Amino acid sequence: MYLIDTHCHLNDVEAFPNVDEVVRDADDMDVKKLLVVGIDRETNAKAIDLAEKHETVYAIVGWHPNYAKTWDSKYLKNLEEYYNHPKVVAIGEIGLDYYWDYATKEEQEKCFRDQLVLARDIDAPVVFHCREALDALLSLLESEPIHPYLFHCFSGDASDANRALNLGAYFGVDGPITYKKNDDLREVIKSLPKDRIVLETDAPWLTPVPHRGKTNVPEYLVYINRELAKLWDCTEEESGRISTENALQFFPKLESSVGR
Ligand SMILES: [Zn+2]
Repeated sequence: MYLIDTHCHLNDVEAFPNVDEVVRDADDMDVKKLLVVGIDRETNAKAIDLAEKHETVYAIVGWHPNYAKTWDSKYLKNLEEYYNHPKVVAIGEIGLDYYWDYATKEEQEKCFRDQLVLARDIDAPVVFHCREALDALLSLLESEPIHPYLFHCFSGDASDANRALNLGAYFGVDGPITYKKNDDLREVIKSLPKDRIVLETDAPWLTPVPHRGKTNVPEYLVYINRELAKLWDCTEEESGRISTENALQFFPKLESSVGR
């Protein structure tokens, strides 16, 4: 059994000045694959750079809604080229963010739709970022053809979860399921089909218990898996195995073998 961190930002150079060490520590804790997610031009390039340097690192490339102001349709060409890279496994994180107002709703929607169309054209799975905009995002997707979708850091209620399930979506589970106050979230996650759940840290953000207050790192994925095992009433081995199988299913370009 090994774990896959399906969403982390080791391309954040301020938070991670020493990626070598972070990758090694993760490996020691059986976190054997790390998917590094881009949010703009620079971080996409950095994600690919890290994927080339580290055997266990893969990249996801896209334009985050908070950076929609810098989006230009000409970048579709770059994203398409990036996706030809053997270690680029999805388009993301893309979506809507109504919490911050770095870009207008119109700018966000344009940036999002452009990339969604591209992802469909090149047959790439899509990873969503969505903050305080779940209804808008779901409504938008409900009028589009079905495509492989992963809701990173899913934080909706049971009805949102049902709508997402009707779209065939996967759900990213991270640090917040370990937070004491989040009984409702745990209930929702528990109610989802087990074959739709993948693990992620969103490092350096969303540090799980018992390390809150520190910078999050991929090795902390073990705490998230431990909480998932509790919810599923199974061993960590079992929840790890299932979530890893799900990740391999969702990201077809991810190789299942580990090590040399
Ligand atoms: Zn992220």
